[in-house]
Amino acid sequence: MQGTVSHRTLFEPRSVPDALKMLRDDGPLTPLAGCTDLYVALNFGTLQETRFLDLWRLDALRRIEWRGGALAIGALATYTDLIRSPLVRKALPMLAAAAREVGGVQIQNRGTIGGNVANASPAGDTLPVLAAADASVVLQSAGGTRRVPFNAFYTGYRQTVRRRDELIVGFEIPPVDGRQWFRKVGTRAAQAISKVVVAGVIGDEVRIALGSVAPTVMRAARTEAALARGAPVADAQRVLMDEIAPIDDVRSTAAYRRRVAANLLARMLADRS
Ligand SMILES: Cc1cc2nc3c(=O)[nH]c(=O)nc-3n(C[C@H](O)[C@H](O)[C@H](O)COP(=O)(O)OP(=O)(O)OC[C@H]3O[C@@H](n4cnc5c(N)ncnc54)[C@H](O)[C@@H]3O)c2cc1C
Repeated sequence: MQGTVSHRTLFEPRSVPDALKMLRDDGPLTPLAGCTDLYVALNFGTLQETRFLDLWRLDALRRIEWRGGALAIGALATYTDLIRSPLVRKALPMLAAAAREVGGVQIQNRGTIGGNVANASPAGDTLPVLAAADASVVLQSAGGTRRVPFNAFYTGYRQTVRRRDELIVGFEIPPVDGRQWFRKVGTRAAQAISKVVVAGVIGDEVRIALGSVAPTVMRAARTEAALARGAPVADAQRVLMDEIAPIDDVRSTAAYRRRVAANLLARMLADRS
């Protein structure tokens, strides 16, 4: 490991209010959840931050329940929690499907949905699901709580509207009408970062969200509008290929990502029957 831990400070709150006070009074602090992203940076020696707030013991942030007519998922819910949750499997099966495809079992046991969202990688596998489900991000600071529509949470590549004194405490997902669909395309079945990841809802309207094809996760609004107007699949595919903005990088090429995204759209629509 190239990063050292000796000059780093760890705050260990016992409750969410404690954690929020520490963020306000002792900040700036970097939250730690499952550490599966942060340890990679520590290992590479690229972790700049030195003061951390350990959330792992805050069980209040691990709950998954119906609250106020929405599925409420705590930020610390791990992929294993999501896979095992009867509520998630029934109300949001595309999230259980995404969780099953993350990393391997070790990552699923430690990695959290809050960490995936806060880490803000455009390749994060749960992000298209939350985008297609019209989720809200629940942010809390010592001063109060605010809810941000998931589709307004990211402002640019790895940029979010979260303030440094706020934690993501969870997500609220309204009931989703229609069939849910999730596909991840990577180099292999496990431990692969997505080349393209798609989540969709096919009901009276079609919703489609994609990851790894733009600086942030994106809803394909123009493609959705074309489908709502009754465009044939081939036309919708052309709109989608024009709408996304993939890049060439170590994992894939822009051309491959465009082609795969279009193929996945066709498959998602064909699966409708
Ligand atoms: C081997 C390996 C395989 C992986 N495979 C995949 C994969 O297939 N798909 C995928 O999407 N990801 C994958 N990842 C990335 C990672 O596991 C996920 O992004 C995971 O969900 C991160 O969650 P965490 O709890 O470990 O976050 P941490 O590493 O603890 O934190 C990540 C970031 O989020 C911030 N943060 C965490 N929780 C909060 C909160 N509640 N409020 C505010 N900020 C917060 C932290 O400060 C940090 O910046 C992989 C990682 C590894 C090492």
